[in-house]
Amino acid sequence: MFISFEGIDGCGKTTQARLLADTLRERGHEVVLTREPGGSPGAEEIRRLLVEGAGERWSAETECLLFTAARRDHLERLIRPALLAGRSVVTDRFADSTRVYQGAARAELRALVDRLHALMIGIEPDLTFVIDIDPNEALQRAKNRQSPMPEDRFENRGLGFQRDLAAGFRALAQEFPHRVRLIDGSGSPDAVAARVRAAL
Ligand code: C5P
Ligand code: MG
Repeated sequence: MFISFEGIDGCGKTTQARLLADTLRERGHEVVLTREPGGSPGAEEIRRLLVEGAGERWSAETECLLFTAARRDHLERLIRPALLAGRSVVTDRFADSTRVYQGAARAELRALVDRLHALMIGIEPDLTFVIDIDPNEALQRAKNRQSPMPEDRFENRGLGFQRDLAAGFRALAQEFPHRVRLIDGSGSPDAVAARVRAAL
């Protein structure tokens, strides 16, 4: 089974991905826990190119290509081999993040994202959990994080942007109702994890 966690920065998806991986392992599944951008050595290198450096380092189009290149490597080197070997894969972000983030920056980019996805990626998770949380609370959580991500030029894009993203993630549940589940992200990590398990 291929499962992704999605949502805005600070929504708790990293924690929830880890908790679900633990649960699945307790139930006897072999689980590969991974993340994007990154997840394989090559994709982690591309991640550095994406998140480090000054403001508008890449054009939005180049950014789409880099996210897609990273995902292709992640898919070839880690996700597909794991699924073929009968393991479950739980990933902190996948293609929906590119649909929402790059599409939120400039709406017409969504068509480019979809074409690149069709050409180079092709697969979707069996199940996607969107952790839905108030952007104010997410911003607060991201600020209080114990080890803030160093040199992430994408952070600090402001509340307005996070609100657009939250709306974008919610819209995914309408667009892909067969695989996307909205999870109320409020409350303790355990409370959210219980909602994820119930939906699973
Ligand atoms: O989820 P994570 O914090 O690891 O993502 C790294 C950074 O990349 C974040 O600041 C996130 O907002 C950004 N990002 C993005 N577009 C994506 C995926 C992540 O701008 N498609
Ligand atoms: Mg994170």
